[in-house]
Amino acid sequence: MKSLPKAELHLHLEGAAPPAFIAGLARQKKIDIARVFDERGDYAFDDFPHFLEVYEAATSVLKTPEDYARLVTAVAGELAEQGVVYAETFLSPDFCGGGDVSAWRDYVAAMQEAALAAEAQGGPILRGVVTCIRHFGPDRARRAALCAAETMGDFITGYGIAGNEMMGRPKDFAWSFDLAREAGLGLTAHAGEWGGPVSVREAVEDLRVTRIGHGVRAIEDLALVDRLAEDGIVLEVCPGSNIALGLYPRWDRHPICQLWERGVKVTVSTDDPPFFHTTLSDEYDRLAQAFGWDEEVLAGLNRVAAEAAFCDAPTRERVLARLGGTG
Ligand SMILES: [Zn+2]
Repeated sequence: MKSLPKAELHLHLEGAAPPAFIAGLARQKKIDIARVFDERGDYAFDDFPHFLEVYEAATSVLKTPEDYARLVTAVAGELAEQGVVYAETFLSPDFCGGGDVSAWRDYVAAMQEAALAAEAQGGPILRGVVTCIRHFGPDRARRAALCAAETMGDFITGYGIAGNEMMGRPKDFAWSFDLAREAGLGLTAHAGEWGGPVSVREAVEDLRVTRIGHGVRAIEDLALVDRLAEDGIVLEVCPGSNIALGLYPRWDRHPICQLWERGVKVTVSTDDPPFFHTTLSDEYDRLAQAFGWDEEVLAGLNRVAAEAAFCDAPTRERVLARLGGTG
């Protein structure tokens, strides 16, 4: 499914780092992280706690704005290979300047320049969604929201929350989301991955987001599913990630098809693709196999993603035009 033009809404920039890129950066900086790779040079981990450990070690080599600019270039190259024409990447001021607004500006400038250069060379259109880290708590989330509001523009277009879903409650972060909303940023929140349907309901009600990262466990409460459908809440579904982390045992047991059949606006993304040994093309191939979804269905999901994208109207038109191109 590589040739099908695609749009992706849920991609953690650090989590999309190709292993060869991270290994190269580690060599340059003389940091020994050999333990995070298997003999073929892929990221290797046994279970969820080990995944977090490997993820942290791998991304610890990313430090300066220049490192992040090079990362954007590397990720844009990978996305272009998968036929991705538009992608939103999650970026965290906590990892880029420690939540300091002026340091964050330098990172944003470097990443935006790299994103524009990649696009000029035929790569995907890239936008950044600032994410606070839930387990760092509401105070650091406020700083992340301030960083997002201060740098909102052609590149930074959204605000969201990632991190450990089991820590705290969505309403603890309402202040940050209010600030981001007033600044004009699009809003999304991770929920309904490790947390149950209640976490999805609270994210919608207390944070007033238009999109949910994952949200798949809404399926455990059909009244909630119907509400998501009625309200037009968009789910950023990452099936390969859910299966790799053991949320569902097999592709044909993943609830994305049920959610779609019940009228929920679902989209498909990869989360942290090289860590889960997946690509967006692989996800599409697996969905086609598991549910018999043809290119028309998959192209429809991409249009939903374009409509839900955190970008301005002219960009949305460009994305829709690119999606409507050669399939
Ligand atoms: Zn995620």
